[in-house]
Amino acid sequence: KLYNEVQDLKGNIRVYCRIRPFLKGQSQKQTTIEYIGDNGELVVTNPSKIVKESHRLFKFNKVFSPAATQEEVFVDTQPLIRSVLDGYNVCIFAYGQTGSGKTYTMTGPNVSSPEDWGVNYRALNDLFHLSQIRRSSFDYEIGVQMVEIYNEQVRDLLKMYYLDFHTLGIWNSTQPNGLAVPDASMHSVTSTADVLELMNVGLMNRAVGATALNERSSRSHSVLTVHVRGKDLETNAILRGNLHLVDLAGSERVDRSEATGERLREAQHINKSLSALGDVIFALAQKSQYVPYRNSKLTQVLQSSLGGQAKTLMFVQLNPDVESFSETISTLKFAERVS
Ligand code: ADP
Ligand code: MG
Repeated sequence: KLYNEVQDLKGNIRVYCRIRPFLKGQSQKQTTIEYIGDNGELVVTNPSKIVKESHRLFKFNKVFSPAATQEEVFVDTQPLIRSVLDGYNVCIFAYGQTGSGKTYTMTGPNVSSPEDWGVNYRALNDLFHLSQIRRSSFDYEIGVQMVEIYNEQVRDLLKMYYLDFHTLGIWNSTQPNGLAVPDASMHSVTSTADVLELMNVGLMNRAVGATALNERSSRSHSVLTVHVRGKDLETNAILRGNLHLVDLAGSERVDRSEATGERLREAQHINKSLSALGDVIFALAQKSQYVPYRNSKLTQVLQSSLGGQAKTLMFVQLNPDVESFSETISTLKFAERVS
């Protein structure tokens, strides 16, 4: 294996915490982030409360301060992504309340400027470059799927598109290994430009399903799946790896006394799938015999990249606002349970 960093990782589950900055135009509010250590320590507190016991310490593999750039975040993510070319399955997801920076980390705020690119674009870009320069005896193919999971239903975000897009081939959807979403269209991509175009369509299709009033992206999970197939040109052996890049629905608690109808139904589905994800990762972290993948669509879709030899990375996203303190604590508790 060329990427020793990956083998050096302790265990298969890593947790990185990322704190977003206060937004422009917001007054510099008091922050709940009291201390960020070099070794992944984080102390949060509620400055509006006088009680001393409100200081709480958490420990992660890494904590990114509000000043961390997209590039800095990616440097620590890259070894996992590269391991996909060695045949590993990898799952990277962002967890946190709406507005905490999940989409910023995974997709980025502005696709047209590469320095703003999030993990998704950087990952694919990196995989293309490496698959071209590495191992001349290997012939790599890269296929992409993009789905949304909303109210326990999986929707193909690229389906409408491939019908009139001729330059991208469709992979055989009966791939035996790692094809977690058999009904979703798979598009073979050969350049970053292909990916940019596909992802723009996926993001547009995601928006199409949303009503003007209900910003749906915060209440659905989006899953970008990258399949890599390498053929050893000497032996004809096939190596496969896949990468799931997941922007989860917002983890905020919905007030049951206020939510009704559709909003309540959405909240229940989100709650169910996020706890199912937590249960799966907890079971894996405990090396438990039984891993409850079947409890949600989300965990079924991600199954190939959770557990076994697979590598999992969770970004725990935090909003430093004092008003977000209680959500911050519940996000950190979710993370603490699985790390
Ligand atoms: P989420 O997807 O969790 O709902 P977003 O990614 O949309 O949150 O982030 C909410 C807002 O904060 C957006 O305006 C986004 O551009 C901004 N933001 C998030 N993270 C950062 C960051 N690290 N640096 C600068 N702005 C950020
Ligand atoms: Mg978002």
